[in-house]
Amino acid sequence: PPPPTAPQPTPGLLLVITGASGVGKGTLRADWLKDQDVFYSTSWTTRAPREGEREGVDYVFVDRETFMDHIARGEFLEHAEFVGNHYGTPLAPIRDAIASGKDVVLEIEVEGARQVRERLGREAVMIFIMPPSLEELRRRLEGRATETPDRIEKRLARAEVEMGQTSMFDYVVVNDDLERAVADLHAIQQAERWQRTGQ
Ligand code: 5GP
Repeated sequence: PPPPTAPQPTPGLLLVITGASGVGKGTLRADWLKDQDVFYSTSWTTRAPREGEREGVDYVFVDRETFMDHIARGEFLEHAEFVGNHYGTPLAPIRDAIASGKDVVLEIEVEGARQVRERLGREAVMIFIMPPSLEELRRRLEGRATETPDRIEKRLARAEVEMGQTSMFDYVVVNDDLERAVADLHAIQQAERWQRTGQ
């Protein structure tokens, strides 16, 4: 008789959250994921580490040459330049995690999210995080000690363009109240899981 094959796990979801820098994606994501066993994709970047950031946890920090080499080998699912630095999502760990049945979460900027949508279509669940207003976004960016005025203006200009291009996303979550926004993310994840797997 043929050897018994192990039952294949139901593939995990690929959930992508995106939105302007300063919109609070990181805080939302941390709250949403804190009590569940999902695979959070650690990105590669050419940006220098900020105070307190850990190698391999917050990012894999690499030089430009290593990053470009990774692009040339097709080893990123998506990659984008953001305010002078490169950011990318390594493909292989995501494939493995989804195949093992885990949900995978990416937290990336909007150009990279667009690439994921183009490449994977409805296989990816695309969620846009919207600030309550541009004024509120400015307040949040100005509250970050790490940003120079010039970089804040660049980030705000980019945010304004992105907020006008939400039609490619499956969901828009307004981050005015953290608890409600986190509840929205849980509801989206649950609804998508039901729709795809009935469980
Ligand atoms: P920061 O420099 O503030 O850590 O990140 C800047 C922006 O890059 C944020 O909007 C962040 O979500 C985004 N980002 C982080 N990792 C990736 C990635 O792998 N790909 C893309 N496209 N954007 C990323």
